[in-house]
Amino acid sequence: MCLLITCMDYRLSEEVLRRVRPGDLVIRTAGANVRGVARSLAGLPVQEVLYLPHTDCAALKLVYSALSQGQPADPQVEEALVSQYRGRRPADLEELERLHVETQVAILRTLFPHARITVETIDVSKIRWPPRKPIYHLLKPQSRYTQDMIGAYIIQAFKIEDVKADIKIAEFLGLSLSLNELV
Ligand SMILES: [Zn+2]
Repeated sequence: MCLLITCMDYRLSEEVLRRVRPGDLVIRTAGANVRGVARSLAGLPVQEVLYLPHTDCAALKLVYSALSQGQPADPQVEEALVSQYRGRRPADLEELERLHVETQVAILRTLFPHARITVETIDVSKIRWPPRKPIYHLLKPQSRYTQDMIGAYIIQAFKIEDVKADIKIAEFLGLSLSLNELV
């Protein structure tokens, strides 16, 4: 089984559809953060992980401002995302992006010590952006997208409890929930 992990960002859905194969599972969270979903991933028979972070990530900008201003984030966002970088002082957003990939890949290696893990950063300046829709969908990892979902933000996970922080970030971004498969 292959696990494809990326961010919920509205610009990435066509990239996911281009790479995903039948039977693959897709996980999408704010910032392609693995920490929040790790418990549900543990024990899955995964041979291959494709980890796809991206440039210009709103979730990482939020982490960066929480770190550089020393402000506490929302408690759920703090626990799932920001807390793993408290005490670190990335000099700029690019350094935080590198630290984040390193940290998430380390979690993936712990979860799947025998899997082949490939990391490919999607440079959003090099892909075609769909028109942005101010909505988000909560989908299961097996779900694929219909054409009308392109341009929406998409959170994909096994359980809604795993993505509480991601939902908070969707709300900070002013998005409203459209489709929910995770109830
Ligand atoms: Zn992102």
